Amino acid sequence: MPTIKIEAGCDGCGTCVEQCPMEVLALNNGKAVVVKLDDCMACKLCETVCPCSLIRVEEGA
Ligand code: SF4
Ligand code: SF4
Repeated sequence: MPTIKIEAGCDGCGTCVEQCPMEVLALNNGKAVVVKLDDCMACKLCETVCPCSLIRVEEGA
């Protein structure tokens, strides 16, 4: 299973939430959070679209 790290500084723009094809991410109290890690395909689209480069996805073994 992949790991997803979201660094501090998220402004809740929602871009990663909107762009994730698997609905892995959601906004909670104005911050992006991981809600369905099981569905993550490690496509790294969320990394690419975050304007602040706060997301790091690593593929699992
Ligand atoms: S790597 Fe892809 S599937 Fe996983 S959370 Fe990011 S956009 Fe969604
Ligand atoms: S794209 Fe980046 S700044 Fe925007 S909600 Fe996602 S993690 Fe936060």
